[in-house]
Amino acid sequence: MVRVANSLNAVADHRARIAELVGLMPVVELPVADCAGLVLAADLVAPVALPPFDNSAMDGYAVRAADVADVPVVLPVADDVPAGRTELSPLAPGTAHRIMTGAPVPPGADAVVQVEWTDGGTSAVRVDRGVAAGANIRRAADDVAAGDVVLRAGTPLGPARLGLAAALGFGSLPVRRRPRVLVLSTGSELVGPGEPLRPGQIYESNGVMLAAAVREAGGVAELLRFVPDDVAEFLAAVDARLPGFDLLLTSGGVSAGAYEVVKDAFTGRGVEFTKLPMQPGGPQGSGRYRGVAVATLPGNPVSAQVSFEVFVRPALRGAMGHADVERRAVRARLGSALTSPAGRTQFRRGRYDPESGRVVTPVGGPGSHLLSALAASDCLIEVPADVTELAAGDEVVVRFLQ
Ligand code: AMP
Ligand code: MG
Repeated sequence: MVRVANSLNAVADHRARIAELVGLMPVVELPVADCAGLVLAADLVAPVALPPFDNSAMDGYAVRAADVADVPVVLPVADDVPAGRTELSPLAPGTAHRIMTGAPVPPGADAVVQVEWTDGGTSAVRVDRGVAAGANIRRAADDVAAGDVVLRAGTPLGPARLGLAAALGFGSLPVRRRPRVLVLSTGSELVGPGEPLRPGQIYESNGVMLAAAVREAGGVAELLRFVPDDVAEFLAAVDARLPGFDLLLTSGGVSAGAYEVVKDAFTGRGVEFTKLPMQPGGPQGSGRYRGVAVATLPGNPVSAQVSFEVFVRPALRGAMGHADVERRAVRARLGSALTSPAGRTQFRRGRYDPESGRVVTPVGGPGSHLLSALAASDCLIEVPADVTELAAGDEVVVRFLQ
């Protein structure tokens, strides 16, 4: 077993560098309906109470509890109060107001008898069961008092929190906007779907995959048509579209071969290239081109997607203001043995089975062209750089892909 100094740091450093390049998105005010999945950028203070007024929890009759102490009793129905009623007549002693769920409780009433305990009359009502004072009334500020901080800055906005904001009357919220990512694949061997496949050609798949990954992370992705391994064509495609984006994400053309278009185009133009001690995803580049952050991922589909998970997804999550940028991770037992190269952190694809005692089974081999194995996986198995062999039953960290 070989332990390689700093190998972990190089991966962590690259990850930190990408996050720093992308930075934090600016705060914008967006309609509440567009804020799902975004992060609140300021404390949200309730401008009104919830409920805003005492209201009925039941369809029934607003009464004085004292008037229904001896049942059965028949009371005249003096008014009808549907939800949405804004002007209320007071309840006179010895009478009832028919009232609907959510309607304001009239002054003078101290309880609501549900309709099921009455004969449902409209001019007079027979009440068969009494209620205690306060019954079936939802008090003003029961849930939220005006002035309460209901959500703190930094809170991710899911359905319930957006519902709360809307219930408090917010039409828009201050949030960090979604990062905009330009996705560009490279390779002279690539053809688009529907085009005939000649010998030596393959269908382009990284673009669709990475654009989907960007969107899943919460970003906005624009997918450019792939370019061949031609520096002029690559730069022309980038230059034509780049302004306004927060990140350029390329795939392919960064390893040690002869036609490495991304490397050739960006070397000396603000992007640095490196080979990281990880598998898959060794060759990586990062920097800034024309003021826009750049992350250049390797072309093998599994390398590209794993690189996205390790480097780009956390950066995008962080840019949106998420405090926790990590996927959920658990410890699991390996379902079968695996080997890993010395000195490189390996990210193997796996399927996690929580039923059979937290077992994770590697799917496919380490080959970074094995896209169907990635598609059949639900997690990455992290094998530390200094580990070269693991037996079935050994403990590993798995990080979920969804
Ligand atoms: P590269 O990093 O450009 O040397 O590409 C490494 C491998 O990934 C080669 O087998 C490429 O054909 C393949 N590859 C690169 N880009 C893509 C892509 N966008 N879609 C599918 N395969 C790709
Ligand atoms: Mg290539």
